[in-house]
Amino acid sequence: MSEGAENAPGECVPTAGDAEGPFYKPGAPERASTGSGLPVRGRVLGAPDCRPLPRARVEWWQANSAGEYDDAHRGTRTASAGGEYAFTTDLPGKYPFRPRHIHFKASAPGFAPLTTQLYLRGGETSVTFDLVLSPSKPPSR
Ligand code: FE
Repeated sequence: MSEGAENAPGECVPTAGDAEGPFYKPGAPERASTGSGLPVRGRVLGAPDCRPLPRARVEWWQANSAGEYDDAHRGTRTASAGGEYAFTTDLPGKYPFRPRHIHFKASAPGFAPLTTQLYLRGGETSVTFDLVLSPSKPPSR
């Protein structure tokens, strides 16, 4: 959970967007693995009420261990009925001027698509990354 103590329990702050960068390619295959050693899991949730977003689409892309982007490190997962996603990948290599990171896009009907990045220090053996989307229009009343 976030450190946002001013938020009431059960409220979700949308995940901050981050740069797409120059290496995104649409159409990454649906798969559970783009490598080994780093399990990544999380939930796709809708702000403001933290509701799980069933069958949300999660895409990721990252550098390989040599710090180069390749098609072997692009994937798509469809979240479960409970909004959960998981995949296993390689620890992304470093490339100049950037900390290690994995790029993400997440989307679900009724919510604004999110593009962001997960930053890594390099010693992780697993990581959890929830993706909180903003409604694409005001809630109906
Ligand atoms: Fe990048």
